[in-house]
Amino acid sequence: MGKSAEEIHPVKAFGWAARDQSGLLSPFNFSRRETGDEDVRFKIMYCGICHTDLHRIKNEWGGSKYPMVPGHEIVGVVTDVGSKVQKFTIGDKVGVGCLVGACHSCDNCVNNLENYCPRRILTYNATYHDGTTTYGGYSDHMVVNENFAVRIPDNLPLDAAAPLLCAGITMYSPLRYFGLDKPGLHLGVVGLGGLGHVGVKFGKAFGAKVTVISTSPNKKKEAIDHLGADSFLVCRDPDQMQAAMATMDGILDTVSAVHPLVPLIGLLKPHGKLIMLGAPDKPLELPVFPLLLGRKTVAGSGIGGLKETQEMIDFAGKHNILADIEVIPIDYVNTAMERLVKADVRYRFVIDVANSLKA
Ligand SMILES: [Zn+2]
Ligand SMILES: [Zn+2]
Repeated sequence: MGKSAEEIHPVKAFGWAARDQSGLLSPFNFSRRETGDEDVRFKIMYCGICHTDLHRIKNEWGGSKYPMVPGHEIVGVVTDVGSKVQKFTIGDKVGVGCLVGACHSCDNCVNNLENYCPRRILTYNATYHDGTTTYGGYSDHMVVNENFAVRIPDNLPLDAAAPLLCAGITMYSPLRYFGLDKPGLHLGVVGLGGLGHVGVKFGKAFGAKVTVISTSPNKKKEAIDHLGADSFLVCRDPDQMQAAMATMDGILDTVSAVHPLVPLIGLLKPHGKLIMLGAPDKPLELPVFPLLLGRKTVAGSGIGGLKETQEMIDFAGKHNILADIEVIPIDYVNTAMERLVKADVRYRFVIDVANSLKA
């Protein structure tokens, strides 16, 4: 007989969980493991609500396991450290993003790309090394191997820093990897949601000219006056699109609905790169001719490794990059999910876990 989950995880925990595909979240008692030698335990202060959480609680991508405690934009304060922990001490401000484990031996892991490890372990709805289910940040505390926690710079407020752990690294990593982090480049950002709005901020911090590309002209004022974009392009306006042809070095495409790529490829200069970051559930049409005529690239990118996540959050600290958030109590979470379906949030909900989660 194997050990029960309670024997492996003897520390009581409390959070909110989805019980079935309705996705409705409700209070949930569970347990977490004791602090291992290389683990840090922390009290969760805030947790962002990522669009992934919405897909997962409703099993829209398949493979959802219930009860499910979602949440992978987690920040908190360390309350306990294992005997071999080197990076953290009690009282440190830490963050955990989408990953809590990996194999540590494959080429990806060796190159600090745990995000591409075939045996990476997601923060929730996954199976941990000990065979138990992982639970995310809509909960009172968490315990994690120190290699999967990052240090939050002191100048960043924890609530608005939380979304950087998923949305932030999702934007930062492709800018770095694809060489779109050089001053003076012209970057496009398609879609002005949780991902896109931090994409604008990182692009500006790298010294790019940033153009927001959107279907709706009424986001122009917000994009330029509030988020600091340099210009705004309505992709349904043929005159505007024609005028902007072949002007961009790179485009971050955050749209997760099916949409035409050819107009975006047309905006790229020769050697330009269109980076796909949303996750449409159906294939997109990709004619090849527009790529040949200009040696253009269409690529994808998914979150980032832990080393780069620390680098991203340090960069955010240095340049004061934060998500724009609406802080909510945990008992508002089901309403927040309904609003998220309608994209009715500017731009990320963040749950005030420490002040609103009561066992
Ligand atoms: Zn996410
Ligand atoms: Zn690996």
